[in-house]
Amino acid sequence: MAKAPKNAISPTRQEDYPEWYQQVIKASDLAENSPVRGCMVIKPWGYRLWENMQRALDDMFKATGHQNAYFPLFIPMSFLEKEAEHVEGFAKECAVVTHHRLEPDPDGGLRPAGKLEEPLIVRPTSETIIGATYAKWVQSYRDLPILINQWANVVRWEMRTRMFLRTAEFLWQEGHTVHATSEEAIEETEKMIQVYADFARNWMAMPVTIGAKTAGERFPGAVETLSIEAMMQDRKALQAGTSHFLGQNFSKAQEIVFQSEAGTREFAWTTSWGVSTRLVGALIMTHSDDDGLVLPPKLAPNHIVILPIYKDDQRAEVMQYVKSLAEELRAQDYDGAPVRVEIDDRDMRGGEKKWHHVKRGVPIRLEIGPKDMQKNAVFMGRRDQPKSVGIDRNELVASIGDLLAEMQQSLYDRADQLRKDNTVEITNEADFRAYFTPKDEENPEVHGGFAVCHFADEDSLQPLLKDLKVTIRCVPSEDNETPGTCFFTGKPAAKRAIFAKAY
Ligand code: AMP
Repeated sequence: MAKAPKNAISPTRQEDYPEWYQQVIKASDLAENSPVRGCMVIKPWGYRLWENMQRALDDMFKATGHQNAYFPLFIPMSFLEKEAEHVEGFAKECAVVTHHRLEPDPDGGLRPAGKLEEPLIVRPTSETIIGATYAKWVQSYRDLPILINQWANVVRWEMRTRMFLRTAEFLWQEGHTVHATSEEAIEETEKMIQVYADFARNWMAMPVTIGAKTAGERFPGAVETLSIEAMMQDRKALQAGTSHFLGQNFSKAQEIVFQSEAGTREFAWTTSWGVSTRLVGALIMTHSDDDGLVLPPKLAPNHIVILPIYKDDQRAEVMQYVKSLAEELRAQDYDGAPVRVEIDDRDMRGGEKKWHHVKRGVPIRLEIGPKDMQKNAVFMGRRDQPKSVGIDRNELVASIGDLLAEMQQSLYDRADQLRKDNTVEITNEADFRAYFTPKDEENPEVHGGFAVCHFADEDSLQPLLKDLKVTIRCVPSEDNETPGTCFFTGKPAAKRAIFAKAY
C-alpha cells in the first residue's frame, strides 16, 4: 500500500493560508471555478452541505413566523434609482441587461439586438423590487406585519472574487419585513441577527460576535446594520451575516404607506436580513485542517462512512455485517434525527478510499474487515482527532449520538479558544500599529487577530486603518457598557469596537 502523505493538503495553513483554502475546496470536491468570471460551480458534496444549512435556517425562519415567497430576478433601473444611498452603494457592482434577443452579426457570430426601453438590473439584493410589490399589498395597519423570506441567487460584480467567500453570483436568502412601528422593526432586526448567531454557534460550531456596524460600514440605505463576525483560522474576520433596520428610507422611496389605527397615513418601517453561500467558506476556514475539510456533524451530509475491507472470497460475509451495522446506526438518533450513514464499497485501494473521506470531512470513518468482525469490533477514525481507535461494535452503536454531540462541541470549543487567544484589548496607537503590523516580512499573513478598543470617531481613524489595512468589524452589542478613552484621539468614548483585518 502506498504510504499516506504527511498531509493531504499542500500547502499547509501555515505555509500559505489563501492557497490552502483553494486546495481544501478542490480536495473535498465542494466546488470549482467556472468558465464565467467570478462564478463557481457548486458540486454535489458542496450543495448537500448548503442544503443542510438551508434546511436548518428555513426551519428557524418559519419558527419565528416567516413565510417564503419568490420575486423577479430583474429590477427595472428606475426602481433602484429611487433610494439615493442604495443606488450609490450598489451602482458599481450591477450587471445590466440592455437587450432582449440575439441576431447574426454580419462579421459572423451573434450580436445583441432588440434594445430594451429601460435597462434591467440583475438583482444585487431585492429591497427595491420587493418594496414595490409591498407598496401594493399594504393599505392598512391590518396588513402588517409582512414577514417574508426568499431563497434566491443574486449578482454583485465583485472585482476580487474567492470561492464561496465572495463570488459574482451567489446563493442566499433575503428576509424582507414591513412593520407599523419603528420599535417592531428594530425588534425584528435584532431577532434575526440572534437567529443567525444561534445558527452559527449551534449548527456551524462557529463562535460569533453580534454587533452594530459603524456608519461607514453600513448597508447602503440602512439606518442600522447588525452583523455577526467570526474569526477565521488565519485570525482574519469574516462578516457571516447581516440584519438591517431600514427605518422609513425604503418605504418613503417606494411609498409603502398604510392607514394607522388612528386613521392617519403613515410610512411603514422595513427590515432586511441575509446570509449567503459565504457561510460554506466560513465553515471551511473555521474548522478545516491540513488534511482537508472538517465538518461539524450537525451539517455534515453524512455522519459516518463505513469502509468494508475484504479479499474477494470474504465479500459477501463482510458486506452482510456492514449492512446490518449501518442499519443499526441509522436507527440511532442524533439531535432529533436518524444518524446518516453511507457505505463506500467502491473498488479502490484502502488507503486512497480512506483519504477520500478524510479530505471531504466526514465526521466518522469506520473500517471493518474479517478480523474486526471476529472481535465484534470496528476501527474508528474521528475527523477531529489524529488517531484511529478500535471500539466494540455495541458500544459504538449505543454511544454514537453522544459521540457526534461531543464532536460538535469540541469543534466549537477549539474555534472559541483560537478566538480568545487572538483577541486583545488595546488602548493606544503604538500598540495598535504593532499588533497589526506583520511580524515577518516573508509572511505578511502573520499579524494580530481582533483588537478591542474604545474609539470616539470613525472618520478620524480612517488614515490609520487604511494604512494598516484594518477595518472596524462591529461595535459589540453585549458586554460593551463601560466608557473609556479613544485609543487614537484620547477623547472620551462610550463604546468599544472590534478592529481586524477582514475578508
Ligand atoms: P448584504 O446584503 O450586503 O448585507 O449581504 C448579505 C449577506 O451576503 C452577508 O452575509 C454577506 O456576508 C453576504 N455576501 C455579500 N456579498 C457577497 C458575495 N459577493 N459573495 C458571497 N456572499 C456575499
